[in-house]
Amino acid sequence: MELLVDLHTHTIASGHAYSTVTENALAASRRGIKLLGMTDHGPKMPGAPHLFHFDNLSILPDELYGVKILPGVEANITNYEGDLDMPMRYLEQLKLILAGLHPICYPGGTCEQNTQAYLKAMLNPYIDIMVHPGRPDFEMDLEKIAHASALLNVPVEVNNSSLATISGKDRARNNCNSIARYMSKYKSPVILGSDAHFWDRVGEFSEALELVRETGISEQQILNTSPERVLDYLVERRKRRTEFNPISLKYRLSIA
Ligand SMILES: [Zn+2]
Ligand SMILES: [Zn+2]
Repeated sequence: MELLVDLHTHTIASGHAYSTVTENALAASRRGIKLLGMTDHGPKMPGAPHLFHFDNLSILPDELYGVKILPGVEANITNYEGDLDMPMRYLEQLKLILAGLHPICYPGGTCEQNTQAYLKAMLNPYIDIMVHPGRPDFEMDLEKIAHASALLNVPVEVNNSSLATISGKDRARNNCNSIARYMSKYKSPVILGSDAHFWDRVGEFSEALELVRETGISEQQILNTSPERVLDYLVERRKRRTEFNPISLKYRLSIA
């Protein structure tokens, strides 16, 4: 399987990542990546960029070393309502919005509260991709998430860093394994993300790929195989924004 897209990477602007846009793009190019998401953390993460950082992303070139760059954000879900730490104006202008739960930025809750926060974010059409559901910090109903991903056609990430980093590795592996099996069962759309915090991890998916093989996720479910497929999805996702209505969103969730 040829993987040509990495939508989840961090630069020094995140405060706890250690490479520049240029270094990440060069590393991506060497790995054969054609489409690169530049998704530094949302402002609630300690050390993350302030909002003006996101205002100025338009100065970046569309392409570096033959790699198309998608400037975006990995927004923080901040509460049980699935709200984000990025004002609407930024959600409207950025080319790629990832969202996930992070310690410090989210209070933590019961399995039900965490699942609700994640599902409500998934119903928000301004969010393109839901990230690292397998991180061990917050317990969630992973089957519900995989099922919702398939019903709503919102890709959920298999995060290479959750599988590769040492802390909490066993629990992360168990969680990632569970959700990957559910995503295989429901045929949910899948994105593999490196979540690179240093250039040498950009486009690195070996642990995620191993999990894909173990759990029977099909190649067809994985969007990373084609930049065109990802870009088409993003266009289609943006069309859904016109239908966004928070009241119907709550209604849809209550009957989900
Ligand atoms: Zn980070
Ligand atoms: Zn994250």
